[in-house]
Amino acid sequence: NYRCRSAFKLLEIDDKYKLLKPGFNVIDCGAAPGAWSQIAVHRVNSTGANGEFPRGTVVGIDLLRIAPLDGAHFLSNHDITDPVTHAKLLELLPGAQAHVIMSDMAPNASGFKEMDHEKLITMSLSLIDLAEKVLQTGGSLICKYWDGALAHQLQQKLSAVFRDVRTVKPKASRKESSELFFLARSYRKN
Ligand code: SAM
Repeated sequence: NYRCRSAFKLLEIDDKYKLLKPGFNVIDCGAAPGAWSQIAVHRVNSTGANGEFPRGTVVGIDLLRIAPLDGAHFLSNHDITDPVTHAKLLELLPGAQAHVIMSDMAPNASGFKEMDHEKLITMSLSLIDLAEKVLQTGGSLICKYWDGALAHQLQQKLSAVFRDVRTVKPKASRKESSELFFLARSYRKN
């Protein structure tokens, strides 16, 4: 049982693109209540449940409290845009490196579409700083955004450091919502 219906979006994306592999280290940004982390724990084998495969690591971060989950480290009440959070992440990740950064983060919606869009883009841009610190070469980033005028800017910044950037709209995401995901693969450090 998943903690949240958003699980189905990640399942769809990962079934298609196979980003989460046993032994991988994953950062889950905006992790509460924890459904994406549940999927990551299973797919990277972070509980070591499958003895035949390497054991990965899952670290989830949220401004809110996240209830404990076997196989995951949670940084509750942490802001992903804060460098202090980045430093803690480096300590929690084996080899101070992540293979995948995923973000389903969303600001509290103000109701003003343009403003919410801008806020989410700004938050997402900070993931590029995080990537520079922790993402290993060849790594990937999945990042939710709301479509709007600045989406192109985010895409360009991602394209400068990832070889392959595409937009993904999972079927599980409501049609009428402007929610989309950037899938950025093959990270290359500049
Ligand atoms: N993927 C999650 C799951 O499957 O359970 C659901 C995530 S929910 C849609 C978005 C989350 O982003 C909220 O819990 C919110 O608190 C968090 N968030 C928003 N801004 C954040 C920030 N600056 N740092 C960390 N988390 C943030």
